[in-house]
Amino acid sequence: MPASKSIKLNTGAEMPTLGLGTWRSQPGAVEHAVEYALKNGYRNIDTATAYGNESEVGQGIKKSGVPREEIFLTTKLNNPDMGRPKEALEYSLKQLDTPYLDLWLMHWPAPMTKEGGADKSIDWLDTWHEMEKLYKAHPEKIKAIGVSNFSVEYLKRLLSNSEVVPAANQIELHPSCPQQEVIDLCVSKGIAVTGYSPLGSEGAPLLKNPTVVKIAEKYGVKPGTILISLQANRPKVNVLPKSVTNERILANATIIDLEPADVVELNQIAKTEPFRACHPSWAGWGNLGFTESV
Ligand code: NAP
Repeated sequence: MPASKSIKLNTGAEMPTLGLGTWRSQPGAVEHAVEYALKNGYRNIDTATAYGNESEVGQGIKKSGVPREEIFLTTKLNNPDMGRPKEALEYSLKQLDTPYLDLWLMHWPAPMTKEGGADKSIDWLDTWHEMEKLYKAHPEKIKAIGVSNFSVEYLKRLLSNSEVVPAANQIELHPSCPQQEVIDLCVSKGIAVTGYSPLGSEGAPLLKNPTVVKIAEKYGVKPGTILISLQANRPKVNVLPKSVTNERILANATIIDLEPADVVELNQIAKTEPFRACHPSWAGWGNLGFTESV
């Protein structure tokens, strides 16, 4: 299947396949990155309250001059805010200086205390029900709700006990973490999948993977193009490369069609070199239903 340009969400909205990630950027860098990306064709920006940069993202959007309605903007409910989603939503809207979010995600199904431990007094399903209520009550503020870091097990619990089917599930996706079973469930339920850490996260380690380099040479492109295109070539999947570097922001916007055999070969990398940049256990709730070896 050729690479997509956008994905239709279950709300009817179109979400551009290519988005700019903004995690782990030095203060001051994201505003420029967002402005530069938008001025150079990006129309999908991903942030989160946990990244501490919603205000900068909002400034970058303003400085770009691109009208707000042309931009698909995602932010995420922070783990320590899962007992107070209404206040958290208002905080995000204020920080981003925007009247609405295109997509509001539960960042992790893992309530946490302000001190950083698991908060076992909160069930993430109750938080999802609060997000559903806010979405229904305030369509002018939230265009779609979704989840992030949801395994098959957690998605099944949500789907069996909720009214709103998430518009998207944002998960780690790269050749060392292909997560096909999560994608298959999402696709069967009409849930878009957004792939994060497509280059392997900080330092982009997968750019040096020999299989990725070999396939890049075959197409005459940079390894990053292969990694980003790999996700864009998967049906119902979009992708969020992060960079604060002008030339990389430009380079990461090149997406090509891959032959199915190359997609298969790339996803085999996980068999010998599996890894996760964001292991779910960090939040103190175990593996959150993820059953892969990593
Ligand atoms: P990533 O996009 O896989 O990699 C980012 C790293 O690669 C940065 O060090 C960046 O450096 C470098 N890089 C980018 N383009 C490059 C290129 N063309 N050549 C060489 N190096 C390049 O990792 P990520 O930030 O973990 O994931 C992307 C986004 O997904 C995040 O920013 C965030 O928005 C989202 N995310 C979500 C979750 C979640 O829990 N939902 C978790 C992780 C990430 P420079 O910036 O210095 O250029």
